[in-house]
Amino acid sequence: MRTEYLVKQPKTLMNKGSGFLGGYSHTLNPYTGCSFGCSYCYVRQMPVATFRGAEWGSWVDIKKGAAAIFRKELLRAKAKGPVTIFMSSSTDPYQPIEHRERVTRSLLEVMAENPPDFVLVQTRSPLVTRDIDVLQKLGDKVRVSMTVETDLEDIRKTFSPSAPPIQARLQALRLLADAGVQTQAAIAPMLPSSEAFAKLLRPLVNRVCLDDYFMGDGSGGRRTRSLGIASLYRELRLEDWYAPSAYRLVYERLRQVFPEDQIYISQPGFEP
Ligand code: SF4
Repeated sequence: MRTEYLVKQPKTLMNKGSGFLGGYSHTLNPYTGCSFGCSYCYVRQMPVATFRGAEWGSWVDIKKGAAAIFRKELLRAKAKGPVTIFMSSSTDPYQPIEHRERVTRSLLEVMAENPPDFVLVQTRSPLVTRDIDVLQKLGDKVRVSMTVETDLEDIRKTFSPSAPPIQARLQALRLLADAGVQTQAAIAPMLPSSEAFAKLLRPLVNRVCLDDYFMGDGSGGRRTRSLGIASLYRELRLEDWYAPSAYRLVYERLRQVFPEDQIYISQPGFEP
């Protein structure tokens, strides 16, 4: 799918953390829209997407001058109390266009100068490794949470064909860990995976977050149901994986190689 880019001058950058992200004081989105356009993304049904009237995944707005606005907001927020930031809640901060535009990098640079109490960088793109130097400056105040929904590339291609390959994400986790950046693997939303998945993750991370459509979409699975994802599972004859109890299988596989305190289920895995 081709992506249409627009440059927008935002008025504000930081939003109040709420709902599933209520543990954060703020959320931060360097872009509006997301060119990865994952089939299961429930942002496509939220006002930010429906208002646009174009297919989710086909457009991205680039927030120009974001760093200057963010600096002011961050300093103001820090003067009021603890600041914990989730980046990003309704886009991926490492859009392919970030390679050129560097909006996310500019926001991380602001944070490196004025550290918040904590920032979680949630992405599925290996482009995050470009910013290892800035992430290192943030030290223990940052964690990169890399989405790895499955170890099966054909499943990834079926559910999110425009997102980066799984192997590249695993390699990014390796590079981040080697550089001393805190990381986690986010199996979220959990997609059908192989028995080898847990063993594949074991040498790469000391923290895994497991989440599914039923716990993690903020509506007990209703939002995901309305996206028609169930029919995809039926076509693939993988209906068993589309059930509120399906995560137990992956949890048990993880437990064979990870200690209990390194496995987080749903919301706690994303908290500051
Ligand atoms: S990367 Fe995240 S925000 Fe973007 S389409 Fe996929 S789930 Fe939605």
